[in-house]
Amino acid sequence: MDLFEYQGKGLLRKFDVPVPEGRVASTSEEAAEAARSLGGKVVVKAQVSVGGRGKQGGVKLASSPEEAGQAASQILGKTFTDQEGRGGTVCKRVLVERAGDIKSEYYCAFLLDRSIRQFTAILSAEGGVEIEKVAETDPDAIARVHIDPLLGMSDFHARELVFGAGIEPEARKGTIEILPKLFRAFVELDASQVEINPLVLMGEDRVVALDAKVILDDSAEYRHSFFGELKAVHEVPEQERIAKEKGLNFIKLDGYVGIIGNGAGLVMSTLDVVKAAGGEAANFLDVGGGAGAELLSSALEVITSDDNVRSVLINIFGGITRCDLVAEGIIDALGRLEVRVPIVVRLDGTNAEQGRKMLADAPHPMLVAADTMLGAAQKAVELAGEGS
Ligand code: GDP
Ligand code: MN
Repeated sequence: MDLFEYQGKGLLRKFDVPVPEGRVASTSEEAAEAARSLGGKVVVKAQVSVGGRGKQGGVKLASSPEEAGQAASQILGKTFTDQEGRGGTVCKRVLVERAGDIKSEYYCAFLLDRSIRQFTAILSAEGGVEIEKVAETDPDAIARVHIDPLLGMSDFHARELVFGAGIEPEARKGTIEILPKLFRAFVELDASQVEINPLVLMGEDRVVALDAKVILDDSAEYRHSFFGELKAVHEVPEQERIAKEKGLNFIKLDGYVGIIGNGAGLVMSTLDVVKAAGGEAANFLDVGGGAGAELLSSALEVITSDDNVRSVLINIFGGITRCDLVAEGIIDALGRLEVRVPIVVRLDGTNAEQGRKMLADAPHPMLVAADTMLGAAQKAVELAGEGS
């Protein structure tokens, strides 16, 4: 679960992490009122869980309550996209914070590195910009340390980060103090990411978390009563909601080939094969052991409701699931739905012959059969208008 900035900051505050004083508002009147109670200059920030709000006009400085109200009316209701200009989420709330004088902006993040089974802490003196850009143009400006989860974070980790990143002298003490607090929050909240961009140096050598991108691990929901409360504020995307209602496991990705498979393992390898065929998956959906028309209709409906989908790959290996029933389900589903993209079907395993014959006997302009998994993936990528 990606938290909104104000939610992340609210949690960090409990771990004694310095964050600016602020209030949440959902109307411009409330924003003006918040500015009045904070006094002085404020910053009005869109509360959407995508990055790069600044560049999209989602962060505005205001020097009076009236200005704060105006800023809020410009931000509220505005649609924000992700860094690549995709998606689109409407802003429903703003965070009004006391604005401070920023002397320097840094970048700091705590992540989980599954490949080495350790945490990674990242610090850079170049903050406020996308860290991916810094990694490209100036990789030496990024300091990284690995933290063993059993040993935890020590003072030397913090010092290594601060000196490795070349943090200026007046910010060193504050940064060395804030890092272990962020780490504690990261671990105790069961977060998979805590990213502070920017971490800033303000007057009196104070180091403050000016932004917070906290991602909580949904698998840990049962351990924390506050998860549900935070979640209630977020809207579940339409597709995910439908999928959940129908008992399907649906995951949205960034590409253009929609994937339906049976069983998590097969679906994962289908993703790899699509990649090997030069394509990018738009999403994937695991129908589990099911094969009925109802289920396949729902699956196709969910998958094709994604505008990024330009072709669909249905990859079924029949074990207990019988391919003839799957074929029947597909044919039935195609009769019910208006399908606008090509659907490549690969059936193998129990009753595959029979299933393939059924599909061949019921030709549909959008239906394409394939014999092998790789062949099917290549076809799906090609029909999406990509690859060779
Ligand atoms: P993001 O664009 O979504 O990452 O939003 P941020 O919260 O990181 O804000 C973007 C930029 O706005 C920051 O890098 C700062 O330069 C600026 N900014 C944010 N808050 C303040 C503030 O209180 N005072 C000033 N002067 N600038 C701010
Ligand atoms: Mn930021």
